[in-house]
Amino acid sequence: MINVTKSYLPDLDEYTNYLKGIWERVHLTNDGPLLRELEEKMREFLGVKHLKFCTNGTIVLQMALKAMDITKEVITTPFSYVATTNALLWEGCTPVFADIRPDDYNIDPDKIESLITENTQAIMATHVYGNACRIEQIQAIAEKHNLKVIYDAAHTFGASYNGRSILSYGDVSTCSFHATKVFHTVEGGCIVTDDDALAEKLQFYRSFGHRNDDYYSIGINAKNSEFHAAMGLCVLPKVPALIAARKQVFSWYDSRLNTERITRPALTPGVDYNYAYYPVVFDSESTLLRVVDALKAQDIVPRRYFFPSLNTLPFSVGHQPCPVSEDVSLRVLCLPLYPSLEEEDVDRIAAIVNEIVSVLSEPV
Ligand SMILES: *Cc1c(COP(=O)(O)O)cnc(C)c1O
Repeated sequence: MINVTKSYLPDLDEYTNYLKGIWERVHLTNDGPLLRELEEKMREFLGVKHLKFCTNGTIVLQMALKAMDITKEVITTPFSYVATTNALLWEGCTPVFADIRPDDYNIDPDKIESLITENTQAIMATHVYGNACRIEQIQAIAEKHNLKVIYDAAHTFGASYNGRSILSYGDVSTCSFHATKVFHTVEGGCIVTDDDALAEKLQFYRSFGHRNDDYYSIGINAKNSEFHAAMGLCVLPKVPALIAARKQVFSWYDSRLNTERITRPALTPGVDYNYAYYPVVFDSESTLLRVVDALKAQDIVPRRYFFPSLNTLPFSVGHQPCPVSEDVSLRVLCLPLYPSLEEEDVDRIAAIVNEIVSVLSEPV
């Protein structure tokens, strides 16, 4: 079977070496030495000021909202993983959906300003598929209206914009290190900021709001363990090679797929990409469903990512129309992409896709 993604696992001996250290120290979690080493190495790798390694890429979004006292309206994207909207709803905020750009599916800055009210406190946008949002435009709107900017940068590890890690932008950026992401720690995530006071606050939030017997603030349990940090220490040095292997798979798809009949999202100028996903957009949902069936018949499992458009979630806040996102989410499919995917597999997948789209009457 070929799944949409396959986790990279390091050499087992390398991981067990770290385990030996854990067994010697019997320090399993709570700000352990491997966690500190990983945080330091990630800060270096990304070139960011403060980085807190946490349990996942969802709780860090919640911590960001909490730490900046955001409780009211937040302008956000309808085209993301459900965690982005869930974090807002979980924290009692009201998501206000701004539609996406038709070329790269990131939030459309031109749609943001008309949605701002006296209750708007922040913009929470996702760098979709690891490709940067229109960062300067969003920043200018935020400054003009005194809003915070939180980026769900779950897809962006190893990607940069104008020579800096995409994670370095916004008041806060968060990342996910879930097993399916470009860099992973099995489960995990991080929160990144330049703001010293905010970083201090997040350090306490991560660990129940106290240090030893001194109680400073409310907090939650978002601490990650030495076992997860050990996985991160094994995978982190491999990230450049993993991205290079993804790039190779990308170019195989690029050269084989019939691009007259499928659309690919545009890359934002200034982005050095991490090749996190390979989305293709078909002319219609019915074509997409036929492609999915044909692939599944060959034991190949693509993923409808992102679907549904988050402004249509039944448990959200009433339907705020976002026609571009609603349309794209019906037609977009992520094809299998991982570093060890072989050329002949890409051949097979591309041939199946091409055969279905070739019967369409018009190029899209
Ligand atoms: C994966 C992902 C998350 C959630 O991360 P977890 O570590 O699984 O909690 C949040 N946002 C986006 C855009 C994601 O892709």
